[in-house]
Amino acid sequence: MNENCLFCKIIAGEIPSARVYEDEICVAFNDISPQAPTHVLIVPREHFASLDKAEADHRETLGHLLLTTAQIARQKGFAEDGYRVVINTNADGGQTVFHLHVHLLGGRPFIFPPG
Ligand code: 5GP
Ligand code: ZN
Repeated sequence: MNENCLFCKIIAGEIPSARVYEDEICVAFNDISPQAPTHVLIVPREHFASLDKAEADHRETLGHLLLTTAQIARQKGFAEDGYRVVINTNADGGQTVFHLHVHLLGGRPFIFPPG
């Protein structure tokens, strides 16, 4: 746990969140400022700052995050219609919280490329 990290505090339950899923590797909760009808953040329990800081040791965790994302999308009912998965990385990627997280956005169409 990183004492200065917002998502570590959410994972520890020190800051409340609306959890949609959790297991031994990850926690998923609703984004506080949703950009789509469904906007879920999937975060590893282990703190690492960004995809840029991921190492070979994180291979299983990273795979698990994506499989969990797909599972939540199916559960939410929009998997066949489609959805958007985003990992903002570092400043130019628009990352604002430096604990790696996957955005799952669904329930409306998206355009590409994003801004
Ligand atoms: P980033 O910009 O780093 O890719 O994404 C950070 C996300 O965290 C943003 O979409 C933002 O709305 C969300 N967020 C920031 N603070 C909180 C919070 O306290 N609770 C929840 N549930 N989401 C948050
Ligand atoms: Zn953290």
